Amino acid sequence: MTKYIFITGGVVSSLGKGILAASLGRLLVSRGYKVSIQKFDPYINVDPGTMSPFQHGEVFVCEDGAETDLDLGHYERFINTNLSQINNVTSGSVYQTVINKERKGEYLGATVQMIPHITGEIKSRLIQAAKKDNPDILIAEIGGTIGDIEGLPFIEAIRQFRTEIGYHNSMSIHVTLLPYLPTSGELKTKPSQHSVNVLRSYGIQPEMLVLRTQIPVGKNEKEKLALFCSVDKDCVIECKDMDTIYEVPLYLEEQGITSQILKILGLQDNTPDLRDWSEMIEAIKHPKKELTIALVGKYTELNDAYISVVESLKHAGYKNSTKINIKWIASENITSEKDAKESLEDVNGIIVPGGFGIRGIEGKLKVIKYARENNVPYLGLCLGMQCAVIEFARNVAGLKNANSTEFDKNTEYKVVDLMEEQKNIAGYGATMRLGSYPCKIENNTKAYQMYNSNLINERHRHRFEFNNEYKELLTKKGLVISGTSPDGLLAEIIEIPQNDWFVACQFHPEFKSRPQNPHPLFMGFINAALNQK
Ligand code: GLN
Repeated sequence: MTKYIFITGGVVSSLGKGILAASLGRLLVSRGYKVSIQKFDPYINVDPGTMSPFQHGEVFVCEDGAETDLDLGHYERFINTNLSQINNVTSGSVYQTVINKERKGEYLGATVQMIPHITGEIKSRLIQAAKKDNPDILIAEIGGTIGDIEGLPFIEAIRQFRTEIGYHNSMSIHVTLLPYLPTSGELKTKPSQHSVNVLRSYGIQPEMLVLRTQIPVGKNEKEKLALFCSVDKDCVIECKDMDTIYEVPLYLEEQGITSQILKILGLQDNTPDLRDWSEMIEAIKHPKKELTIALVGKYTELNDAYISVVESLKHAGYKNSTKINIKWIASENITSEKDAKESLEDVNGIIVPGGFGIRGIEGKLKVIKYARENNVPYLGLCLGMQCAVIEFARNVAGLKNANSTEFDKNTEYKVVDLMEEQKNIAGYGATMRLGSYPCKIENNTKAYQMYNSNLINERHRHRFEFNNEYKELLTKKGLVISGTSPDGLLAEIIEIPQNDWFVACQFHPEFKSRPQNPHPLFMGFINAALNQK
């Protein structure tokens, strides 16, 4: 039978509950347990796919095409697994299911209510996630902060669920912030006490506290919190800011967190195998080389908007003992070739990641021109491939003002156009080409060199595509289409062979990179940057 760990947060949002959930997952996996992780997001959007990255950060895409919260990226990377739609539940999706059932008459005349119908649906999602992968332990993270009105149905569902499955089959971990007051030189515990009180008022007594803090938490503070929150003092765990998120599991393990959890859940405390992970952390902490990579995008004020890209770069860096410094460049600030040169002169490689809408596109094209003409290693991801096609069409093939119809519906040269199957789609939710699709790789290409395979699978999230009407012209001018859908109809990877590394793909390789298993395209890109340096 699956055991459950529920993680809630208090005092403030953005406490890093996702990293905590992922870290616990890693620690339990290292003891031989099968783990799955599920995120509950209390907002009304059915999924984050329609939200601006400024609001929400990156939209992470799973194999099955689910558009999910970026925490699922952390989960996949830490526990090295593939998750799916059932691992991300939003209020919107819960309400949608309940309302659809009501419209079909499935409640047989009952008044449909928050309790038991909404809470019942939430509980059923927990069971569905457990049934799908049959894990020994399912970690469920509840987004938001205790006390938020919209989180209440989730908390009530957990309270009921814990009672129904027997208390020893689950546990509750409450993550809070200990603010530091520099004037008195103290960490304050009161907000955490209040937060636990609120949680208790909903009928949940946490078995463990995890304290987010800038500085080490003293014994006094821990004992005080244990006493006032009725938590065993060995279960008051400190989680200070770390240099790398991948170090968090080791830091928690040192404090005995996993043994305490397994004791509470009545599971055997096997010896953990964290050798590989510890070796990786050593390598991360002592890099021998350094690279600066320009990340040229639209949402650069919020680093979370590109979190999987940044992590993938770091993963490829770890494998090469290389520290990756990211130079964030807002593409709308690049308004001339001079701007491009000035911002890119000192970088070892350039990435243009995914994105939507016209803002900043001309800046991206200038950046790509610079990369192509100066042989700076370039990796284009989704929109970054579409822009590379536009740049090549305009500046190499002489198709003046060539464009994507996403940015100019009336362009004379529609080198990137809406996919045929997208043309009759109305509405924006979950309507793109989403999730994993196969891609055929041509021999004697950079893509083949890196993947070492003629058939790969990658995750997608796009509406537009390379327009095959221009295939002959552009390939004659030197563009190589090194990957396509198996029927040959969709261009999936393009390359410019004259350059040391100019590769761009229509899919999102960043969703499949793992700290211990970096993605081949990111490896190729980082290797090229290192070779040049
Ligand atoms: N806006 C482009 C499209 O819809 C690219 C999408 C992306 O980069 N994820 O095709």
